[in-house]
This record gives sequence, structure tokens and C-alpha cells, in this order.
Amino acid sequence: MPSITVQAAGSPKIDGERLNSTLHHSCQWGATPDGGMNRVALNDDDAKVRRWLIQEVEKLGCTVKIDEMGNIFGIREGKNPNLAPIGIGSHLDTQATGGRYDGILGVLTGLEILRACHDANYKANAPLAVVCWTNEEGCRFAPYAIGSACWAHTYTTEFGQACTDADGITIGAELERHGMKGEHKCSHEALPLSAHFEVHIEQGPILDYAETPSPVAAVTGVQGLRWYDIVLQGVGAHAGTTPMELRKDAVIASAKMILEIEKIAVDFKGKATSGKIGSNGQPQAYNCILNQVELGLDLRHEDEETLEKMSQEVVRACQEIAKKSGVQIVKWDEKMRSEAMDFDKVAVEHIKGACLRSGFKRFDIVSGAGHDSVYTAMHCPTAMLFVRCKDGLSHTPVEYSSPEDIEVGAKVLLDAVLSYDKKVNGRPETP
Ligand SMILES: [Zn+2]
Repeated sequence: MPSITVQAAGSPKIDGERLNSTLHHSCQWGATPDGGMNRVALNDDDAKVRRWLIQEVEKLGCTVKIDEMGNIFGIREGKNPNLAPIGIGSHLDTQATGGRYDGILGVLTGLEILRACHDANYKANAPLAVVCWTNEEGCRFAPYAIGSACWAHTYTTEFGQACTDADGITIGAELERHGMKGEHKCSHEALPLSAHFEVHIEQGPILDYAETPSPVAAVTGVQGLRWYDIVLQGVGAHAGTTPMELRKDAVIASAKMILEIEKIAVDFKGKATSGKIGSNGQPQAYNCILNQVELGLDLRHEDEETLEKMSQEVVRACQEIAKKSGVQIVKWDEKMRSEAMDFDKVAVEHIKGACLRSGFKRFDIVSGAGHDSVYTAMHCPTAMLFVRCKDGLSHTPVEYSSPEDIEVGAKVLLDAVLSYDKKVNGRPETP
């Protein structure tokens, strides 16, 4: 295994063992018997791990600021008090059947970087802040990434606090109950960041299944995404008496559409998933031709223009299939859209540089999933680093990244953050 560049004396050093043991220590809150996690946003365990995080950063002499959405900023002073902190953040909430790494790794790597700076008595030019964003998963409260999205002003704080779970409990009420509704306005203007770096498990198999394996990859941007709700109307009829050629079968039409959509996605080098299939509330029976089918469709591409073309081609092909099948498309609603984006070139260059210096083969990946960094990128230079996870699995108790990979990820991120800080925030030498 190639070795990591040794930092000059006096520079902060990642303690891999400390990082890994801290990560698992923090998973005592929300651990499930199958080795996974159930720490949905703002439940009692989420509140406990948040309080613990605050104590840990306070032990390092950091200042803790909490905003009205419960986003936590643990800030270590920099040399230049006029600079906004460089955030190193992610989320501590998990899916109800989640794992120990998604999000958690990003926050605890931020904590480890602060600890490393503290131990080395190292001050960056800008302050460094570990950031815990509230409700990234969107599992208990939709929409996802509500904390970072409110910080970015994509939603108002009023909207964010009013989001409810299945029992009608609001985020605002839970923040109040846990004493986590901070005094600071939730805003990139009130609590600005001069940059945001996020380590996250890949949640895909590219790194794990690569021919030349690597524990880390630079993330250059995030794929565009569109969701559609579709309803097909056929004619219900008797399964035994209706000749095949006289049927208007919504199930057959939907099956042909799903296969055609798959082909289109492959042709466009995008992704298509028909992850929701139902009969729109119509009863189902062995001996009835089903008259309605509903489909939930997810289309993704890393290039927004190509995604637009791919979506148009999907619509055209489905209309043609509907016509040939004697079925009508009675609903084709766009439910959600998130545009493809590139992360900040300079911040990404520093991640790439640190990946190269780590001695492993460099991978560049466009993220297929949304992250808090999507929202921070709207208001400050942002970049992400992916860490390999076993079989690319996440949102499951078997989610796993090795201690060695976690250590490499933290070293690479520290290198990227400090090189970015030196380059962007370092004062030019006086002539
Ligand atoms: Zn995550």
C-alpha cells in the first residue's frame, strides 16, 4: 500500500486509530443489534450525539455556534480573524435502517482535523469549523438536507422548522425539546463559510470494484435529477375472454416503457430507475386485465443539457408505446428537479492534488446522490472527497468502510483543506 506524504514537523497529523474509535464511540447513540444505526434526525439519540459533539469541540477550545435550524458550527480560531471559517461538515443523522458511516464519517473527520490542529498547535489562516448539518437524510422529515438548504436560503427557516414527521411533530418542536434551536440566524449571511469540504462514503461501487483500487476519489460535481409521476390508463377486461390482440393492457404498456427507458438511459450514458410501480389504487386480480398503472420514474445525468434531451426522448418513446398499445398517458407530472452542478474548480483541484499526493490512483467521480455540499456550493467554494465503501452499499446496516480507508480519507482531506487555505488565504509575501 503506498504511503501517505509525511507532513512537515509541527504540521497537524491525523490519528487514524483515534478517528476510528471515535466514530464507533459516537455510534453508541442509535446503534441497532444488526450492527447498523437508527438515528433519524432529532430523535433522542441524535440529540445525545449532538451534545457529545459539542462537548468534544469545546474541549479543544473551539467556539460553538448553533443556528435556528440546529446546524452546529464548532469553530477553531485562525490567524486571520477577518476570514469566514472553512467548514468541514456533513451529518450525524442516519436512515432508520442506516449504517455507521454515511454522514457520520464526514463530521467525525472534521472533528479529527480539529483535534490534529489542536495537538500540533496549528492555526490555519482561516478559522476551521466542523459542521453538523441537521436532517440530511430526509428519512424522518422531508425534504432531505433541510439544515443546509435553509442555510443556503433555498427554504426559509420558517418552512424548515414547520416540516413534520409522520406523527405531525415539527422540526421546530424537536429542536426546542432538545435545546438545539440556536440563537444564530440560519443563513449563509449570518454564519458564512469561506469554503466547505465534505468527506463522504461513496455509496456506489466504482472505487470498490475498480481494476486499480483506490480508497478515495475526488468528487467533481453532482448529477442532475428529475422525478416523474406517471399514470397509464388502459381498459380493464376479463383475462379469459379478451383476445390478446384486442387488449388495451396498461401493464404490458408500462413494461414496454420501462424497457425502452432503460435503453434510452444506456444510450445517453445516464441513469433511469422505475422504482415505484403500482395500480393507482385499482384492485388487482389474477383474472382481470389491470386498467391503470402508476409509475414513479427517476432520471439522472451529470450534464444538465443531456438530461433534458434524455427526458424528452423518454417522453417521446413512451407516447409512441402508449399509442401502439391503445393506452393513454393520463398523468406525466414532474415531482422534483435538481440541476446537475460542478463543484468549485479551485477547491476540487486541491482535493485532486491531495489524492495524487496520497500515492493512490486518482479517481474523479460525479456524485449520483445529493449531499449537504450541494447546498453549501451555492454560497461558497465547495468540494467533496469520497471514501470507498464495501460493495458500494449504503443506507443499510452492512454499510462498511475499512479503518485503513477512513484514515487515508482523513489524511487526504486534511492535506486538501490546508493546501487550499495556504493558497487561497495565505497573505502574499511583502516585497
Ligand atoms: Zn449522507
